[in-house]
Amino acid sequence: MTTPTAHALPSYIDPSHPGPWGMFMEQLDRVEPHLGPLAQWVETLRRPKRMLIVDVPVRMDDGRIEHFEGYRVQHNLSRGPGKGGVRFHPQVHISEVMALAGWMTVKNAAVNLPYGGAKGGIRVDPSRLSLAELERMTRRYTSEIGLLIGPDRDIPAPDVNTNEQVMAWMMDTYSINQGGTQTGVVTGKPLSMGGSLGRRDATGRGCFVVAREAMKRLNRPMEGARVAIQGFGNVGNAAARVFHEHGAKIVAVQDVGGTIYNEAGIDPHALQHHLKVAEGALREFPGGTVIDDASFWGVDCDILLPAALERQITEANAYQIKAKLVVEGANGPTTPQAEDILWDMGCTVLPDVLANAGGVTVSYFEWVQNASSFFWTEQDINMRLDRVLSEAFEPIWNVAQEKRVHLRTAAFIAACTRVLEARALRGLYP
Ligand code: GLU
Repeated sequence: MTTPTAHALPSYIDPSHPGPWGMFMEQLDRVEPHLGPLAQWVETLRRPKRMLIVDVPVRMDDGRIEHFEGYRVQHNLSRGPGKGGVRFHPQVHISEVMALAGWMTVKNAAVNLPYGGAKGGIRVDPSRLSLAELERMTRRYTSEIGLLIGPDRDIPAPDVNTNEQVMAWMMDTYSINQGGTQTGVVTGKPLSMGGSLGRRDATGRGCFVVAREAMKRLNRPMEGARVAIQGFGNVGNAAARVFHEHGAKIVAVQDVGGTIYNEAGIDPHALQHHLKVAEGALREFPGGTVIDDASFWGVDCDILLPAALERQITEANAYQIKAKLVVEGANGPTTPQAEDILWDMGCTVLPDVLANAGGVTVSYFEWVQNASSFFWTEQDINMRLDRVLSEAFEPIWNVAQEKRVHLRTAAFIAACTRVLEARALRGLYP
């Protein structure tokens, strides 16, 4: 369990179970001593700027009305409009959305995108909804959070269990309510309605880019590197393909349906076809052997890529990890305590705020393309993505070496400095 922070928590967070928000507070505690005079503003980051909780009533296919809890949190808007995904998951709760919004503030500033941080979600198991129910729920939610979102105010995007179709419904609903098409209100849209080339694979591609940079500095080859991936959704699926293309070997994959292992390497294209096209179960994939879920963490590998949910690597399993590099494709997959254990074991952790920033970076490219109605080539996008991430990586890596701190702390130093500088310059109103 996360140790409660010494600082006061907002009254709506239970101090005995602060959840992911507690993790974010501990991460802020670790950066504070490195902020110099800007530390006087750090309290700003310990409370979200604005939060909206909405009731989302949905008429189900059988005529009953069900109510779902929806959220949109704008954690910080000092550097620009809010930006961050929307997740549909049965465990979505306020502490989680607050933390995810906070991590977006840090992530956007770490790679220097002109955005604040926001996040949204609905507490729902979308797998039990029909497509029509999912559409009605998405549209009602969008309308309810219409008070906050907008192309210059707060721009949602996909996250866990949301995709291009969900973004299309959100864009359409917002546009109808506004009385005119506004493509820039969400990113991660389908290509045919203002989406960007390269967005779908951007988070996974970004994981590869930062891993490549880290492997170079650790003097380890990417060719033949063994990779274990948890999650085969928006992030894990693309990451598997990009690592595979660059000569790495995917030795294990875990998702909600189980865990498979293949020492000789799992073909991610075949796996993608098996899961998405043939709608098969992971356990039935012929290119791997089923292993016990718990043994996933101890798999012999060089790179471990958690790409599912938060708090997966904890004190309970960190000691089993054999990888020398953990690449956080998910948001918040490693608890601060587990991160300390990994540090002592000589395992480098590439933090979420850098490792998975590829998604929001190409979201930014999409938003820029929407604003100018001029579209770039995929090659151009991938090249710019590579540049943004490698340029963000370098100083963060160097600060971590110089100050002998975790890469996460170094990323938080770079990001919080940018956010709090803007905060200080904007001053208080009135
Ligand atoms: N949900 C993604 C993230 O956590 C992408 C957010 C975005 O593109 O706005 O970074």
